[in-house]
Amino acid sequence: MPEKSPVYFRPARSYSQDTGLVASMLAAFDAAGFPDMIHRHDVVAIKVHCGEWDNTSYLRPVYARTLADRVKELGGRPFVTDTITLPYSARASRASALDILITAERNGYSSAVLGCPFIVADGYTGRDDVRVELPEGYILKEAYVAAGIASADVLIALTHFKGHGIGMMGGSMKNLGIGCQSRRGKHNVHMGGHQLYSVGMSAEFHPEKCKGRLGCDRWELCEACCPWGLFHVSDTGITWEQERCTSCLGHLGVNVSCGVVGRPSAAAWEVTNAAIADACLAVVKVVGRDRVGFINMAIDIAPQCDCVNFSDTAMVPNVGVFASRDPVAIDAAA
Ligand code: SF4
Ligand code: SF4
Repeated sequence: MPEKSPVYFRPARSYSQDTGLVASMLAAFDAAGFPDMIHRHDVVAIKVHCGEWDNTSYLRPVYARTLADRVKELGGRPFVTDTITLPYSARASRASALDILITAERNGYSSAVLGCPFIVADGYTGRDDVRVELPEGYILKEAYVAAGIASADVLIALTHFKGHGIGMMGGSMKNLGIGCQSRRGKHNVHMGGHQLYSVGMSAEFHPEKCKGRLGCDRWELCEACCPWGLFHVSDTGITWEQERCTSCLGHLGVNVSCGVVGRPSAAAWEVTNAAIADACLAVVKVVGRDRVGFINMAIDIAPQCDCVNFSDTAMVPNVGVFASRDPVAIDAAA
């Protein structure tokens, strides 16, 4: 029977500065042995989700700042990082390095706040990556890890643990399996182009529900939301070149709410989750198994991911801080 991986936990309840979330995060960091991973002059990537424009439940930058200061005390060279989106939304504000830097700064993720650089790990258009072979992968046989993360000596995944539309929960595995992948890496995980398992290609299509240009004031956005121009709205209806869909999910929030584009197949959901786990493994492999640490901040646990441009109320009260070397164990514990 495999040995169980230790997970260190501090509860969210607090009665003093010593038991607050910042102190608890550092206590978990130390207890999990993360200081031993960091040697003098090591470049240390602190991977966060910087939050979508107008999302308010993403992690406050004080946690990343505190970790960056701790890394510097240990002799390391920290940077805080995130990657661009596919875009996942018609109104995405993180789909290029220019956009994500503007959004991140508005959300407090700037070098002035962090005391270290904030870097877009996969470059201006998400093409800066490292291909990782995955012969042991369950679904994926290769993954594309953002070069800024693949090149780091040490990776600390500082994760906001919350709900997620596909993964059901967004934890450490998703922070690596999606959040550390380049643009083509994200397409890869979402099975872009696969007839059965692509999130886009397997979605139901109900053109009979479309009101067309004459009846819908969003028809222009409906056509513009797809980077490949696959939706064609006429006066009375719509056609979709679904067979060319790459699963970028740019149409979310536009023609899903009107019922024209339906849910992906259940199989696509399951396969994507397995692919997230494979891609997470790729990140651990390329950085090094003994040089990756995971922190889950289980606070502000909204139903949706920080990728959406709003925040619902929390589903449960704040839980606390988890730290581990094992992404499966920490997500299971949280
Ligand atoms: S698919 Fe929906 S959003 Fe698009 S034009 Fe038709 S009714 Fe409007
Ligand atoms: S139809 Fe496919 S390629 Fe076009 S926006 Fe939707 S998911 Fe992206």
